[in-house]
Amino acid sequence: MATSLIKLIAFAMASIAPALGLTQALDPTSVELAKTVPIADIHMHTYQINGPGSAEVVERMTINNIRWGGGVGDLRADIADALRGRHIPAAGQREFAETFIRQGPNALVEIDNVYFRDLFRDARDMFAKGTIKGFGELHTNNEGSGPQPFRRKIKTDNPVIRKFYEIANEFGGFVQLHTQHNAEFTEDILRLSADFPNTLTILSHCLPHGQPEDLAFLFKQRKNIMCEMSATGDLHNRLARVNRPGRAYSVDGLRPRWKALIEEFPDRIMLGSDTCCGWDRHYSEAIAEIRTNFLPYLKPATIEQIAYKNALRVFKLDQ
Ligand SMILES: [Zn+2]
Repeated sequence: MATSLIKLIAFAMASIAPALGLTQALDPTSVELAKTVPIADIHMHTYQINGPGSAEVVERMTINNIRWGGGVGDLRADIADALRGRHIPAAGQREFAETFIRQGPNALVEIDNVYFRDLFRDARDMFAKGTIKGFGELHTNNEGSGPQPFRRKIKTDNPVIRKFYEIANEFGGFVQLHTQHNAEFTEDILRLSADFPNTLTILSHCLPHGQPEDLAFLFKQRKNIMCEMSATGDLHNRLARVNRPGRAYSVDGLRPRWKALIEEFPDRIMLGSDTCCGWDRHYSEAIAEIRTNFLPYLKPATIEQIAYKNALRVFKLDQ
């Protein structure tokens, strides 16, 4: 009796699971491509303090077929030298962190702040020489998505962020923002991306607390907004001791609404590892998770686009 009941429940689950999006037939071409496709890591941290050495960065990239990397801080000359045309150099994260640690969140919006002064003075030169391609990772709101002592909430459209956008706009550069979805942010980012049409906004982690529909709304309004998918699987939750499956994908695969978003806007999404927070030794795990739980659920052409073709285009990288 009990056995037949279990069988019945199992049969019922198997019947409704596809409708719920719990099981998805995978295209064998996608599965194979996902294992080996070259990846541009748009959220590759190389911290100055306690960060990996340049040899270690090159080695972990080679092992995982990560051909290009960067997009966030810290900006380091040794990494730039080691990666050359494969690097996506970004400034501003160190200055942002230093301001916050020394003076608190209110100082982050003060344009005359001593910690931003040198960067604002030198940034145009750095763009012109190609030693930076953008700014990031700039945290304006990580109230519900960052380590506790590092949390803050400031308005995204503020004089300092505006200055980063203004400079990037002159060089077709990018600003990578770590912020959270809410109504105020939506207004701010639509205003900034309209005022500075040559600046590309990259939303870290594809906008924590945002639904795929919120991203679709922004993508439809503005051509110069993209996002990167780091920390949206199980691994980062586990490392942060958050007891829930990944926001966009998990061991059960890519959530259908995220899949729909990515297939609708394959030119707006990129990939990242985000081994922040002392998690450098988990780099290969972060990439393996992307290659097994996320990419196989997409069309082959989409996999190539989000893995590296978008990055080649927007950062003008060497193939
Ligand atoms: Zn980060």
